[in-house]
Formats: sequence, structure tokens, C-alpha cells
Amino acid sequence: MQTHVLPVDAERPELKVISKAAGILRRGGLVAFPTETVYGLGANALDEAAVQRIFAAKGRPATNPVIVHVADIASARDLVAEWPEQAERLAERFWPGPLTLVLPKIDLVPNMVTAGASTVALRVPAHPVALALLQAAQFPIAAPSANCSTALSPTRAEHVLYGLDGLIDLVLDAGPVPGGLESTVIDLTVKPPRILRPGLVTPAELEAAIGTVLRPRAHAWADSSEPKKSPGMLERHYAPRTPLEGVAGNSVERVRELSTQGLRVGWIAFSDVAKQGATATVVRILPADPGACAKELYAVLHELDAAGLDRIVVALPPATEEWLAVRDRLRRAATCFADGNGFED
Ligand code: AMP
Ligand code: MG
Repeated sequence: MQTHVLPVDAERPELKVISKAAGILRRGGLVAFPTETVYGLGANALDEAAVQRIFAAKGRPATNPVIVHVADIASARDLVAEWPEQAERLAERFWPGPLTLVLPKIDLVPNMVTAGASTVALRVPAHPVALALLQAAQFPIAAPSANCSTALSPTRAEHVLYGLDGLIDLVLDAGPVPGGLESTVIDLTVKPPRILRPGLVTPAELEAAIGTVLRPRAHAWADSSEPKKSPGMLERHYAPRTPLEGVAGNSVERVRELSTQGLRVGWIAFSDVAKQGATATVVRILPADPGACAKELYAVLHELDAAGLDRIVVALPPATEEWLAVRDRLRRAATCFADGNGFED
């Protein structure tokens, strides 16, 4: 299959381009499109065969459900058996935006989408291209991130092609996405609601809207007896091919140690000060603000992963709640830890 790439204006998507993409989806095809979080790989959520193609293209296990994107609150309500007060409040406050609500599904939603679960994960994305596509399609669009299973998420069209070229019909290229990290997933079928995957909407923001919410279960992914309620919990996920190490303490020392062993090291730090005495082959400094960092994180990981390095060393950001999502992705990208497990949160 040949994968076509169509440029599209990120602010004012051209009707012609959107109609073409919607047509492909209507005929059961796969279209990668930008959302405000990462690029998604979309299929008609109500067409089981089309959704099956998402799993095949990504090499995604059938046990990992996909998020269903809808155009508005009314379309979300059409797919669920219950729409509790908390859903209404969160949707009013955060949609369109990077928050995914898990609710009891109706039979219309194929089991393939939810990996057999009786719940469906729903979100109204904020990116103008994603919204235009949903409005043109007139059906819900199932879309996980547009990358091969467990690999780094795509924040640019090039990242999508890197893993999926030849496996999907179309990529809508609107340039780099504004958010850079996957949505927050919250389970509203339990009391109090629980965050299944941390993301761009923080626990504090959720609590301001609906009161107490439980944090993601720390280390739940390490316990194989725990049923994986949300596959964001898979231990290795969002990972580069190059071994990545998270360092909570002095990463300068660790980089020096590895360089002395003759390894080509890529170093990701959060402060320019860290550059002093750097012995790494490549150094990248990420912004010391969680939102700004999230926007750049995957692009930097993609870049270092393509640089032919032996090791990527990441100086871990602080263990505070505003860094929860970034630390969560780094934890699952990491293969080893230099100083014990720096992830105690
Ligand atoms: P991604 O492939 O990165 O878009 O991931 C989609 C994520 O949505 C999964 O990893 C799950 O965490 C979450 N998800 C989707 N559907 C459900 C569901 N029915 N219940 C719980 N989590 C879900
Ligand atoms: Mg993903």
C-alpha cells in the first residue's frame, strides 16, 4: 500500500483535504491526523474491520483498547450507557481538549475498540484538523497514537511515516502538534474516579472540577497479577530503540562514566548548567517547565534515537505532581536506572 501525505493548514484546514480524508475513513481506510496531544491513527470507530486494521498496522495487542474521538458532547453521550454528573462537568470544563473519559459503553461500540471491555474511552480533541475531520466524517473516529505498538509517540508527520509508511492510507501533515504528550485518561466508572494515565490535564485541575480523584496506581505495571485496566500501564511503552537510562541524582557523573567506557551517549537535561563538563556525544536541554517540556520531549527522543547512540541518559525532572505525566512516560521509556529506581512516585 502506498501512504499518501497531504499538507493541511493547522488553523484553517482546507475543506478539500478534509473531505478526501473523511472519504477514506468512510470506506474503511486508515488516516493519521494531528490532534493537540500527538498524531492519531484514525479509523471509523463503528466499523469493526476498519478498527482491526489499526491493530494490524500498529502491531498492537488486541488487549489494548483505543480511544474514540467525537466531535462534541452530544456525540459522546450517544455512545455511552450512562452520562454521570462528573462527566458533564469534566466535558464542559476540558473539552475540546486532552482529557479522555472512560464510561460504560453501548452495544453499538464494537468490542474490538474496547478490547472486550464494557467501557469506552472518549474524547473531543481540540486540534482544528481533528475537529474538522470529525465533523466531515459524521461518525466517531477510533484513534490510538500513530506509531508502532510500544514505540515513541509521533508529534510530527515524519514520526508517523517512520513507523507506518506503507501500512496506512493517508497522513494529514499539519506540522508539529501543540501538546506533545498523550491525553489524561480518567475512569469515571469507579468511585472516586481514578486517573488511569497521567497526561496534559493535571490531577489538581481535575480535582478543581469534580473533587477527589485517585492517582494512577504506582508500579501497577510491575505487578503482572494486576489486570491491566489501562494499557498505558504496560511496563515498556513509549520507548526508543536505544537503551534509555533515567538518573535521579548526578547525571553528569553517569554520562562521564559511560563515555569513559567508550559508549556514545546522548544526554537529556533540564538545565544549561548541566552542560558544564559534559562528555556526551549529543546534549539536548529541555525546558524546565512541564508543559513546554512535554511539547518537545518526543521530538528530542526521536532525534536521539536516530543518532546512532549506544545509550540515552535522562536527568529526571522533580518528583512533583506537575511533572507526573512526563515522569510517567520517561519511566516507561527507560530500560535501566543508574541509581536504583529514581521513580519513587
Ligand atoms: P494510545 O495508543 O497511546 O492512544 O493509548 C490509548 C489509551 O487509552 C490506552 O493506553 C488506555 O490507557 C486508554 N484506554 C482506551 N480505552 C480504554 C478503556 N475502555 N478503558 C480504559 N482505558 C482505555
Ligand atoms: Mg500510544
